[in-house]
Amino acid sequence: MKTASKGRRRPREQVFEGLAVSPGVGIGPAFVRESGDLHVPEYQVPAGRVRREKKRFADATAKAVRQVGKLKAKSLGIHGLAAEELGYLLDAHLQMLKSRRLIGGIEARIEKERRNAEAAVMSEISALAQEFVAMEDDYLSARADDVREVGHRILRNLTDTAYRGFGGVEKGSIVIAEEISPADTALMDPEQIAGFACVMGGAEGHTAIMARSLGLPAVLGVAGLIPAIRSGDMLIVDGSSGLVILNPTGKRLAAYQKRLKAMAREARSLARLRDIPAETRDGQRILMEVNLELPREAAQATVVGAEGVGLLRTEFFYMNRDDLPDEEEQYTELAKIVKAMKGRPVTVRTLDVGGEKLASSLGDHLGEAQNPALGLRAIRLSLKEPKLLRTQLAAMLRAAAHGPLRILLPMISTPGEIVAVRKELEKTARRLRRRGLEVAEPLPPLGVMIEVPGAALAADSLAQNCDFFAIGTNDLTMYTLAIDRGEEQVAYLYNPLHPAVLRLIQFSVEAALRARIPVSVCGEMAGDPRFTALLLGLGVRELSMTVKAVPRVKSRILGLDMQAAARRAQMIMDQVDSTRIATLVDDFNETVA
Ligand code: PEP
Ligand code: MG
Repeated sequence: MKTASKGRRRPREQVFEGLAVSPGVGIGPAFVRESGDLHVPEYQVPAGRVRREKKRFADATAKAVRQVGKLKAKSLGIHGLAAEELGYLLDAHLQMLKSRRLIGGIEARIEKERRNAEAAVMSEISALAQEFVAMEDDYLSARADDVREVGHRILRNLTDTAYRGFGGVEKGSIVIAEEISPADTALMDPEQIAGFACVMGGAEGHTAIMARSLGLPAVLGVAGLIPAIRSGDMLIVDGSSGLVILNPTGKRLAAYQKRLKAMAREARSLARLRDIPAETRDGQRILMEVNLELPREAAQATVVGAEGVGLLRTEFFYMNRDDLPDEEEQYTELAKIVKAMKGRPVTVRTLDVGGEKLASSLGDHLGEAQNPALGLRAIRLSLKEPKLLRTQLAAMLRAAAHGPLRILLPMISTPGEIVAVRKELEKTARRLRRRGLEVAEPLPPLGVMIEVPGAALAADSLAQNCDFFAIGTNDLTMYTLAIDRGEEQVAYLYNPLHPAVLRLIQFSVEAALRARIPVSVCGEMAGDPRFTALLLGLGVRELSMTVKAVPRVKSRILGLDMQAAARRAQMIMDQVDSTRIATLVDDFNETVA
């Protein structure tokens, strides 16, 4: 253990609260991710591109101001000295981000030296930091760190680089950071990292989903982590209760170690359900599928006895790279997954970026948007950039020759979008056949995500144009309640039990049943045993969830009486108040557990 002499750190136990986003417990040394290892490109900018370069810099700085402002708002939630200290620090950063000395210096380097924005920031920051270091005054020379930190923040925004790589992290560490993106999470190896916690992030954002997929205990939206924790400090991350415990007492540590053992026992006993069909006590068979974030999860899908992949998010193809994946690469990866599933259907979703999910390789295609969640994202991007869509469809059609594959379209809001994709699909199939390649015959089923309230309300007309529905309760909740799913400040309002959300789910399920097309739920609700009885009661017979959630949801199904669940769902749908609904859900789960 380090001593307390280094200023802010405290050897006594401290408990931080945040959002419990990925269950489980991690115990280990902290790894506080610094803003190092940035890849900074350096090049000369032609005269005609200077304005554009200055605009890039201005956008990155404006983003930095927003980020620091957000951190400041969060710091108000902490108590005592730490809050004061953090407040001063962030004020200093805000001042720097607005100072003419820094901003003007960087702009001058872009303009006069014709350097790209990243290189200009780099040079100006090191020159300024040198000046501070050289000052006699201790306080001022310590500001050099702040200058570097501010510079790195702008650089990260410019390069759109989240902090990369966790290769050098000591085995069993807990990663602590200001923000962790879904792409960062994809780089974490659960064998290497015991869990993570960060200041930003909401419970249903993709970082949270990725953490659950990987089985990494995680707590997001925790104020005050960064100034309090140093790399090497002993930590517990409790992803089930949303706690981060710094320097736990011996008693606390022992209690958590006991909990870890109990969790391992529970996992072993649930693993026995693997080959038992998911059937309610009164004989209703439920299809259990999995959502995959990364290809490496396919092997685990069969281990938990999944009956198919209900949602393969293809965003992984575009993460942590600067170029775009070609048809061959996508085909090879998809074919591997289809083969690994050994005849069980694989539902592959076309690219769903934009909004909170950004892929650096798509930077030029996405542009800047005022309201990214409402802008050019998901199917809208695919239809605007047909080359992206055609490449994906071609890879899917070729992979479909190796086993059952279904194509799923995200963020559909009108039948016209489905018709446009179907045309592309047919054209792509013809092109592939001309190339002499094997294509599945008939063409794979084409389904749509129901995740926009308008799509749910127009579900009857969508059902006439597609082959299946997958209800995305994550976005459906977000758009219905106007709550950003990845934003910790409004996370308390995010509630899939809101009557408006439930009515949209019910309406979509009934529309699918009327049109006799399959309907599944693949949002996070499907993987939470708390909601299983309600979803089944509303008529859902197919659930798709993260691999880790399968055993517990299956166990819930095995204990359920379908008739009773349907009666309870009916009672719930007569309610107008979410609190009353939550009580009815929880009472039913407790009494008919
Ligand atoms: C959803 O919105 O519920 C969904 C499953 O899609 P994603 O989480 O990838 O947006
Ligand atoms: Mg979605």
